Amino acid sequence: MKIAILPGDGIGTEIVAEAVKVLQVLDLKLETETALVGGAAYEAHGHPLPDSTLQLARQADAILFGAVGDWKYDKLDRPLRPEQAILGLRKHLGLFANFRPAICHEQLVDASSLKPELIAGLDILIIRELTGDIYFGQPRGRRTATDGHFPGSEEAFDTMRYSRPEVERIAHVAFQAARKRNKRVTSVDKANVLETFQFWKDVVTDVAREYPDVALDHMYVDNAAMQLVRAPKKFDVIVTGNMFGDILSDEAAMLTGSIGMLPSASLNARNQGLYEPSHGSAPDIAGKGIANPLATILSAAMMLRFSLNQPEAADHIETAVRAVLAQGLRTADIAGPGTIPVGTVAMGDAVAAALRQALH
Ligand code: NAD
Repeated sequence: MKIAILPGDGIGTEIVAEAVKVLQVLDLKLETETALVGGAAYEAHGHPLPDSTLQLARQADAILFGAVGDWKYDKLDRPLRPEQAILGLRKHLGLFANFRPAICHEQLVDASSLKPELIAGLDILIIRELTGDIYFGQPRGRRTATDGHFPGSEEAFDTMRYSRPEVERIAHVAFQAARKRNKRVTSVDKANVLETFQFWKDVVTDVAREYPDVALDHMYVDNAAMQLVRAPKKFDVIVTGNMFGDILSDEAAMLTGSIGMLPSASLNARNQGLYEPSHGSAPDIAGKGIANPLATILSAAMMLRFSLNQPEAADHIETAVRAVLAQGLRTADIAGPGTIPVGTVAMGDAVAAALRQALH
């Protein structure tokens, strides 16, 4: 089993190191190879996704990704910006299905900005389509400049589009995931205003006929945004397009207290996957040793479950994370009264120790 390790920028290197440390505790034959991506790759090779990195990613069974980006690259031409690496990997590897579980760990109920009774026991899964929608529509309205600004232009535009096969395949992913959970899918759209999403709704409804055991309902995105903070537990699986999923999954992330807790997986049709925390490179705290590595460690667990067929090892990591939270250890982003403050490395060490204990 070969894993491409792409730490990236900012806190990416710090949190991926902790996830690798935890993986090494497992008695699995994992071959790892590390490569540059994002701003770090731009500095070394002049491109955020060099051919060598892409080749490594293609050959690997799974990719463990940290985060990319830094404000210092904001003035670069858009194709050279660090964030293009992640779009490039999604496109080249056909990673169309993004899984973002939002689980509220019992010990972190108080870290949420919502009332404890609203989020205690929260366990929802947002499935975001990743390779279509307005982020990939053609043509894109970058007409007069490459630096992201439009001197002399009076308008800019992007086009929203989805094809039937694109909607069908993400709908199948959602219904199949729901079958392993509480058998409910909420498809989020904006069918009242956008033709693309009336089409989305129609196609999802067609696919639902193949899953009579799964309940489907439809919800407009503005209502979904509201319901996520009003009564998040009423959802099971949410499936939506690229842009709505981008926004709703960050909203759902905050329900659980910290974006530093949430893993994600992006899969292609062969179950090859890219696993990364839901957050970015956090340049504001990079290098300080205070980033929360748990989202990345939990992403490594998802990698074992989805791409490497090691569900027991995944369970062990998740149990180790719960044990460490139960011990009261907290990085600054999830700290609360009476907890034990730790940094990135100490948190990784604690999870590795809890895992070792669980295995022996
Ligand atoms: P961000 O997620 O990096 O940070 C948002 C806030 O959350 C910051 O205050 C940060 O300190 C905090 N935070 C994030 N992760 C944390 C962690 N593990 N532990 C503790 N605190 C954490 O989002 P941003 O500030 O909007 O973006 C920063 C850079 O990251 C930008 O260049 C952006 O483009 C990039 N980005 C990359 C990805 C990716 O690589 N997939 C995703 C989102 C943003």
